[in-house]
Amino acid sequence: MEKLAVNVKCPYCKKSLMDEEVQIDSFPSVRVRIQLGKKTGALYLSSIYGSYNIISEVPIPPEEIVLFFCPECSASFSLKDLCDECKAPLAFFELKNGGTVQICTRRGCEYHSIDYTNMSQKISTLYSIYEVFADPSRRK
Ligand SMILES: [Zn+2]
Ligand SMILES: [Zn+2]
Repeated sequence: MEKLAVNVKCPYCKKSLMDEEVQIDSFPSVRVRIQLGKKTGALYLSSIYGSYNIISEVPIPPEEIVLFFCPECSASFSLKDLCDECKAPLAFFELKNGGTVQICTRRGCEYHSIDYTNMSQKISTLYSIYEVFADPSRRK
């Protein structure tokens, strides 16, 4: 199965959340701020859709729900929508080419989804994803 690398930005201030310096799964990570109890810190998520690899400044115990914020404008990424699987709030990011990615904010829950606002955006988003993988060694 082809891996999908997402390129996301803040839905509010539109700044890119991609961090080229911190790589996870050999791709730039998605950098957000999190709050867990009274602690806050940076959290780096894998940009590979379906990968749960993270680097967190704040240790997150399994099953804990964390709050996600924009590192630039401090807006909350949490939605009112709840996870289908565990009822924790979902957080969302805007895809660079339109649409949103939603992830569950509970550590260890694997729920995530991508919403494309329309078909043409879906197509352009997929093209940009495949460009990431346009590695000459993979071409036939
Ligand atoms: Zn922002
Ligand atoms: Zn969940």
